[in-house]
Amino acid sequence: MIENFDPTQNNGSYYMVDNFFGNFDQNVLSVLAPITSNYKVKGYVVIHSDMSDIEKSCNSLLSIFYIILFILLLLSLIILFFFTEIVYIPLRKITHATEEYAAGNMHYEFQVDSDDEIGYLAASLNYMASEIARSEDDQKKFVANVSHDFRSPLTSIRGYLEAMIDGTIPTELHEKYLKIVLNETDRLTKLTNSLLVLNNLNTKGMLLDKTDFDINHVIRDTAATFEGTCRKKNIAIELILTGDEMYVNADMGKIQQVLYNLIDNAIKFSHHDSVIKIETSIYKSKLFVSVKDTGIGIPKDNLKLIWDRFYKSDLSRGKDKKGTGLGLSIVKEIINAHGEHINVISTEGVGSEFIFSLQQAKTNENED
Ligand code: ADP
Repeated sequence: MIENFDPTQNNGSYYMVDNFFGNFDQNVLSVLAPITSNYKVKGYVVIHSDMSDIEKSCNSLLSIFYIILFILLLLSLIILFFFTEIVYIPLRKITHATEEYAAGNMHYEFQVDSDDEIGYLAASLNYMASEIARSEDDQKKFVANVSHDFRSPLTSIRGYLEAMIDGTIPTELHEKYLKIVLNETDRLTKLTNSLLVLNNLNTKGMLLDKTDFDINHVIRDTAATFEGTCRKKNIAIELILTGDEMYVNADMGKIQQVLYNLIDNAIKFSHHDSVIKIETSIYKSKLFVSVKDTGIGIPKDNLKLIWDRFYKSDLSRGKDKKGTGLGLSIVKEIINAHGEHINVISTEGVGSEFIFSLQQAKTNENED
């Protein structure tokens, strides 16, 4: 029997936190359950639990909860940090770079040091921009060179014509100067034609009209067109051709252009009374054509540059006033479009040899 026990004191609640009607020294949690029989309350079952124990376990649960919360917070901070470092900052850099490129600043460079996909994307973007910048620079250089090469003959034509009109050049000398003017117009025509050829090679992505044809025949024909020029300098062209006929698979018109440019150069840069050798040879399925002269040669430092558009070596400027510096770039583009190679071996003061390869026609290979 518990003194002062009054379950109604609880206002119907089945638990209470206190010293349970003075039975305990400290606060306890008491949970009551009535025992009823025939709708009458016979007594109560009461379970007590020390409040300090409950608070202790409650505190330890809470501290586990706080630790987990702290770890989660730390983890999300770490994730946020890595996300910012690995994704956000590089993406910001890339977006900024694309804005710069869109505004036309193709020289803008940025650095993303990571080995993942974003790093690759940044590197590809950088590469793309540098290539566009390079081609823009090339284009500017190209236009500057074209303008320069057009301006100088036009200036001299204008100068001579003005001098003839105002009488500075007397009538009896008109013929001489008109010939010079004619020469200059020839140079302009040559320049325009070369530009058109180069432009066609580029814009069409070099559509080749490949057929099987006899390269010996083409070499003989092309060499023959230089007869007049050779006679003037007393130059002989010696042909050392493999077989009577030699079929190759290539674009005949374009290979003719290659031969024309190479022989033209060989004659231009040869001394009087010399010999130019055009030789063919076979190695594996390839046919090699060599155009060799004993002319002024090309200085070692210039060898790489001769394929560039508008490149003319200092040595050649005196010898070849009509040169456009486009001949060899046309040659290289044509040979490359065929998937073949062209090389030059040259020694200054001794001579030059240009060798290019061509694919033999199947008919030839079967005969071998
Ligand atoms: P160009 O129409 O001015 O000859 P190319 O592109 O054909 O232009 O040649 C470029 C330069 O390469 C020439 O100006 C010359 O300096 C050099 N070159 C080309 N072929 C020869 C050669 N056979 N011997 C010496 N130099 C050559």
